[in-house]
Amino acid sequence: MTGTYAEKSVSERNLSLVSKAKKHFNAILLWVKLLVRPLRITYRYPLVKEIPDEGYRGFIVLDDGKCIGCSLCARICPASAMKMFQAQEKKLRPAINLERCVFCGYCVDVCPTNALKHARTHDTVFEEGESMLYIGDKFTVDPDSQLLTGRVRIYRVRVDERRGLVYEPIR
Ligand code: SF4
Ligand code: SF4
Repeated sequence: MTGTYAEKSVSERNLSLVSKAKKHFNAILLWVKLLVRPLRITYRYPLVKEIPDEGYRGFIVLDDGKCIGCSLCARICPASAMKMFQAQEKKLRPAINLERCVFCGYCVDVCPTNALKHARTHDTVFEEGESMLYIGDKFTVDPDSQLLTGRVRIYRVRVDERRGLVYEPIR
């Protein structure tokens, strides 16, 4: 036997009250869970650092010994960030202006001798625009090696659906 319209609307209201109460209860439960075991999604940068996986497009580094001064890297650069300079013994060598670089990696890909590579890090602080020009020896320093010798704790970060961001210490 079907109920009247009034009876139906009362039972629907009761149902919606129950589902509302359930949602509130779940929200409170989640709050208690996060209070007891917080899902940390921030870390104490720069004391704690994340190191990205291989293939990450960080700073460009030059291996001067491999460079033949062909200028292809400077010619392909879409942002005019790479320019050629005359180095010692009149050799042509690239220099990079990080103020312009968009980390596209074209220069790395086009280099016929693999003299350019991406580092895995690209976070640093520049006090003035001039220090963003990497020329000569400065362009050959691999920031990854600096990072690995510093007093910084390095983590690999992965996402876990239940635990949030999970930090696996590397060093
Ligand atoms: S990564 Fe791209 S923008 Fe940066 S220097 Fe190389 S080619 Fe130019
Ligand atoms: S493309 Fe490679 S070899 Fe040619 S100038 Fe650039 S870094 Fe040197």
